[in-house]
Amino acid sequence: MKVFKFGGASVKDVPGVQRVASVLNHFPEENILVVVSAMGKTTNALEELVASFLKGDELASKEKLAKLKTFHLDIADGLFEGQREHKVFQDIEQLFTQLESILSASPVGSFNRVYDQIVSFGELLSTKIVSAYLNSIGYENRWLDSRRLIRTDQNYRAARVDWNFTRRMVTETVQEGMRYVVQGFIGSDDDLNPTTLGREGSDYTASVLAYVLQAEEVVIWKDVPGVLNGDPKVFEDTKLLNQISYREAIELAYYGASVIHPKTIQPLQERNIPLRVKSFEAPDATGTTITEGAPLEPHLSCFIRKEKQQLIGLATRDLAFIAEDHQAKIYKLFHQFGLRVNLSQHSATSSYFCVNDDPIATPQLIEQLKQSFDVSMVSELSLYTVRHYNDSALAYIQSRGRKILEQISADTYQIVLRE
Ligand code: ASP
Ligand code: MG
Repeated sequence: MKVFKFGGASVKDVPGVQRVASVLNHFPEENILVVVSAMGKTTNALEELVASFLKGDELASKEKLAKLKTFHLDIADGLFEGQREHKVFQDIEQLFTQLESILSASPVGSFNRVYDQIVSFGELLSTKIVSAYLNSIGYENRWLDSRRLIRTDQNYRAARVDWNFTRRMVTETVQEGMRYVVQGFIGSDDDLNPTTLGREGSDYTASVLAYVLQAEEVVIWKDVPGVLNGDPKVFEDTKLLNQISYREAIELAYYGASVIHPKTIQPLQERNIPLRVKSFEAPDATGTTITEGAPLEPHLSCFIRKEKQQLIGLATRDLAFIAEDHQAKIYKLFHQFGLRVNLSQHSATSSYFCVNDDPIATPQLIEQLKQSFDVSMVSELSLYTVRHYNDSALAYIQSRGRKILEQISADTYQIVLRE
């Protein structure tokens, strides 16, 4: 069995869903489990719905819900022209009725729990539509409910998979020789409350399912030819990487390359399942293959930019050394406020930490840090990372702004710039 994953951008409209069908029809002999994200920007729209619901703004909630319904019905209408009696329309109606009933009651539980309860509808809607459409054009498949298959803990919005339960459910349900369509991103806890695995988590779902099914391979279908050596919207002359290792993929994701969700690789690596990233516009092209120990090919410098960075500087007031106990305390605070340190640099009496600009968490963290240190902060910075650098790669990046801080190791160069 193979696992294919299609993201929100690939099912954002009628031609998108039709293209998914033509990609699948390219592999008529294969048993494929198709993982699908919410359509287009649906997850963002549902996040806004959660916000207005929790604010108690009924009018705004109604408007947002109506917009979402029209968006999905329009796509279904385009795919099932003149067939309003088709069951897919009942399925869509039913999901919206469920959503309405959640919104008409008082929110139950924490923000995160309510979030998962509502946001999970994006994937339910998209898979209902995609599965029905594929069946209607003769690509027979069964719709599966990830809330029954993927069991997680109750860490809503970033739920962790219960591997034993999930393995049992998936292997009991999924049969060889069949094709399936299933939601990415969502699961449920022991009480069957919906949970989500973290934004952009559908890649991870594909990898979890591939792991438990011992799939032959996972293919993530994208609107780019594969993994490039930089985001073409940010860097010039980017090129396709034909093959990279799992480790390289994890490193690139860690530094901020947004091609693959960072959690995706680990389960695949454990079972040695190849991951391919391919373009849905060119299903025959090989794209990028990610496997164990594969040398980077072609061997190019890889570029990553993180925008909206802040550099927090800490200095001891009495010129005491910032020792390990200080550092432990500082990192604990970063962790507590959910801020990841993207780069750090230390001298005897001062330390610098580069973090994402977080309008809520950062000011609170600064307040805490001020109790023990002199704190400085510079905003509106960019952090560039170059893997496998050479002189010309460094010159290229350094020319993009004024250097604030840099760091270099055997294969990775990082620089904080004011652009
Ligand atoms: N729909 C979810 C999101 O937009 C999951 C995904 O797309 O992978 O974050
Ligand atoms: Mg998405």
